[in-house]
This record gives sequence, C-alpha cells and structure tokens, in this order.
Amino acid sequence: MTQNLDYQAWRVHEQDGKFIGMVETCNTADLPANDVLVKVSHSSLNYKDALSASGNKGVTRNFPHTPGIDAAGEVVEGAGALSAGQQVIVTGYDLGMNTPGGFGEYIRVPADWCIAMPEVWNPHKAMVYGTAGLTAGLGVSKLLRMKVKPEHGKVVVTGASGSVGTVAVELLARLGFEVIAVSGKPDQAGELKTLGASEVVGRDFLAEEKKPMLKPEFAGAVDTVGGAVLSELLKRIKPGGSVSCCGLVAGVEVQTSVLPFILRGVNLLGVDSVEIPPEEKQSVWDKLSGAWACGHTESSARTIGKEELDSALKAFLDGNSHGKIVLDHSL
Ligand code: NDP
Repeated sequence: MTQNLDYQAWRVHEQDGKFIGMVETCNTADLPANDVLVKVSHSSLNYKDALSASGNKGVTRNFPHTPGIDAAGEVVEGAGALSAGQQVIVTGYDLGMNTPGGFGEYIRVPADWCIAMPEVWNPHKAMVYGTAGLTAGLGVSKLLRMKVKPEHGKVVVTGASGSVGTVAVELLARLGFEVIAVSGKPDQAGELKTLGASEVVGRDFLAEEKKPMLKPEFAGAVDTVGGAVLSELLKRIKPGGSVSCCGLVAGVEVQTSVLPFILRGVNLLGVDSVEIPPEEKQSVWDKLSGAWACGHTESSARTIGKEELDSALKAFLDGNSHGKIVLDHSL
C-alpha cells in the first residue's frame, strides 16, 4: 500500500542564480516511483553534498532538490527480499544527486540500492562512516589487494583531516602502517595523531618539483585530493607501490610522466564508491563493522540537525571541514 506521509526535508532552491537551502514540509507522494520507501533517521555529510547544495550541475541538474548521498534508516514499504521494519544503508548511485536524498526524512529508492544494516550497527553508526568511510575502506582494500604491506614502508594520506582522509588514517594505522598525514590544517595535527598518524605534515610536503621522479619514499598512499598533489605523490612512490585515488578537491588534471609507472611499476588505482555493485559495498561495511572498526572516528564524529546543514556544507567548499559529520533527523 502506498502511503502519503508528510515529512521534513532540507531542500535547495535556485533563486536568481543563487542556491538556498531550507527546511520544508514535503510529502512522500512526490518522491520518485521506486520500489522501496525508507524512513531516514540519519545521513552523513560529504563533499559531493556541498557541490549539490551549491548548484554544481555536474552533480544535480534540477532544483528544488534534496541533497544527501547517504541515508540510513528503516524500510517502511518493502519490495523483493526487503520487508518493512528492516534497517538499511543506502549510499551512492543517484541518491542525493538527481534522486531526493538523505537530507529528507524519507527516500524512495530501487531495492538494489539498499544494503542490510550490519547487525552490530545502528543508523547513526553507519552514517559515521557513510560514503566517506566506504571510500576510505575501498581505497585501503585496493592497496592491500596490490600487496602493499606495513613492512614495505610509510604510507601517505592526503586531505587527511577530511571525511575520507580521517577514516583512511585511522584504518591504515590500525592495520599496522606508519601513516604520514598531509594536512593544510595545523590545528588538526593533534587529532590526526590520535587517529594514529605517526607524522603530520603541511601541504608543502608535496610541493611541485620539476623533476619527473624523486627519491622513492612511500610504499603507498590514499589520495583524496587529486590535481598537482597526486602528480607529486606518484614521483615519490617506491617500486611496486600503489596509490588509491578518489578525489578532486585540489583539481581534476593530473600531470605525470610515464616514468613512475614504467621504471618503478607504480600502480595508480581508481576508487569509485558510487556505482559499484552492492556486494562490494556490503563487503566493506562488513569489515568496517567488524575487524576494521575505527573506534576514534566513531567517538569523535559530530552530530548535527538540519538547521546546521548550511554552514557545515559551506565549510566543505572552503576546505575548512574536518572529521566526520552525521545528520540526525530527530534533532
Ligand atoms: P572533505 O572536504 O571532507 O576533505 C577534503 C580535504 O582535502 C580537506 O579537508 C582538506 O584537508 C583537503 N583539501 C581541501 N582543499 C584542498 C586543496 N586545494 N589542496 C589540497 N588539499 C585540499 O571531502 P571528502 O573527504 O568528503 O572527499 C574528498 C574527495 O573525495 C572529494 O573530492 C570527493 O568528491 C571525493 N570522493 C570520491 C568518492 C569516490 O567514490 N570516488 C567518494 C567520496 C568522496 P586538509 O586541510 O587536511 O589538507
């Protein structure tokens, strides 16, 4: 039975070329005609949400729109193997891009976007990780699959204080790696050390150099920023080492020669957390809710209500956000 329920959502409107977010009342009858209705209790904030909320048409074409690429909550109307009352996690695909997302208290999505909540998690804990945690987990999994090991040397995390970066730092450290955290925020150095970084360095650590190759210092890296930072990182990776690449905050263009690849066998590994099959997402959720649990990330995450979304999202665009932020719809 299709239900018509009023609910609150943080929706972005386009007004005279400006994009303005506000809490308003919506109705589930206006959600897309997908199989599964989920009552969302929590979402998570990501850089992509900030792009959507600021009118980036590569992310969201039409407004008004409800952002939120992450959602966790309870199935209200099920389909297939999903029944009412089941707790699920929905991340990626088109959620929060052109499909109303987790910044609303209800979403209606295809059944195959929904992943069963790990037994030991609740929606808040799932959203402490969210897409950022999933991405960090995928990036680290790729390094491990390429046989990057702690005994091979130090690993680097760029954009270390960000949502992907903090989880990557804590995860790599708890897997026994010596982690160098690259961060433009000196005030986050203490927090990054608490997460397990052995060293915290400024962004000039990877300043541009003319040479196509530099002293090979690092066994691997999780790069969350791209651009010139990734170019410089590739020059410093040891033979056989690997770099997982997921982000673009420092730029989408990467200038490189073929030398690190053909003389050192360096591997550049792309990470996509959005369109991968649900089983791949599930396998990372299973690890993060078990052996890979990041206790400090869990205890240090900030929780906000819808009214705080505007300023929290602007901080992402200014490069000033840090750590994990959960949206709790009950606040
Ligand atoms: P955040 O904004 O939380 O983190 C990015 C961090 O990068 C900032 O906190 C800052 O960290 C650093 N940074 C910001 N601007 C610059 C700059 N100009 N040069 C160098 N470093 C900079 O974003 P997220 O962690 O949520 O996402 C990181 C990236 O990963 C984004 O581009 C996002 O779109 C992408 N992403 C991709 C996914 C995928 O599936 N491929 C999934 C999730 C995210 P500090 O101050 O510590 O240096």
